[in-house]
Amino acid sequence: MTVHSVLAIGCHPDDVELGCAGALLKHRSCGQRTSMLVMTGGQRSRTFSGDTRRKEQEAAASILGAELFWGGFNDTEIDPGRATIDVIEAVMEQVNPDVLYVHAPDDSHQDHRAIAVATVSAARRSSRILFYQTPSTTHFEPTIFIDAEENLDRKIAALECHASQVEAGSFHVDAVRASARYWGAFARASFAEAFTPVRFVWDIAPSFTLHDSLAQVDFALEEGLGSTKGVAATPQLNLRTLRSELTTPRPITWRLASTRCFSRSPSISLASITPRRVSPGS
Ligand SMILES: [Zn+2]
Repeated sequence: MTVHSVLAIGCHPDDVELGCAGALLKHRSCGQRTSMLVMTGGQRSRTFSGDTRRKEQEAAASILGAELFWGGFNDTEIDPGRATIDVIEAVMEQVNPDVLYVHAPDDSHQDHRAIAVATVSAARRSSRILFYQTPSTTHFEPTIFIDAEENLDRKIAALECHASQVEAGSFHVDAVRASARYWGAFARASFAEAFTPVRFVWDIAPSFTLHDSLAQVDFALEEGLGSTKGVAATPQLNLRTLRSELTTPRPITWRLASTRCFSRSPSISLASITPRRVSPGS
């Protein structure tokens, strides 16, 4: 499946982090553009004061490496109609997402129910729409899972940016970890995030395209991973040289030896992507 850009939509600051921060981090580590649209400022929360929640959301988005868009609606006043659909479509126009993540529709919060309906309308031409779960979801039977082990600590770090909500008991970090462990058992993984599809078109394609390779190399360069110990231990791998090789037309092609994504995690060394030559078409 070739993915270049994904968009996660949430009604209030912290919703996206609760539902799909692990997925966003996974996309980001693969060099894909990640964006989040937060529809309201969370003005009706018990602890709301000034622009606290806005700043918390900005800090969390920074940890996720996601571009942040605000919907400009008032908390508890989202409806599924034209105005909401227009805002979602406007952001979709900017980021052209291949995958959309949004609240599951069975939820005790009226904003969450409304945004699920509005997103399905706005994304009527999209091939991949996934519902995520938050603590107010009332019914959820997931069938799609994303491994969250590698990114769970960072997801929790993003959630902890929402200190006002942690203090208010709106969510509990230990429950987030326990939930990831619970869904991991269903996903045959240690930790997972869970989703239900509105529609999910499986685009069967080569698992590692030139675009993917370049995106990951660019991500590694951007993140400064080229100076990590893993690379230093692999003198034959120079990321800039590798990028040059990937973009130079030649009768034989280069392929990375591994399809693993780059990661900040020291346990996944860039040594694992030492390039090797392969025959044309192999
Ligand atoms: Zn919410």
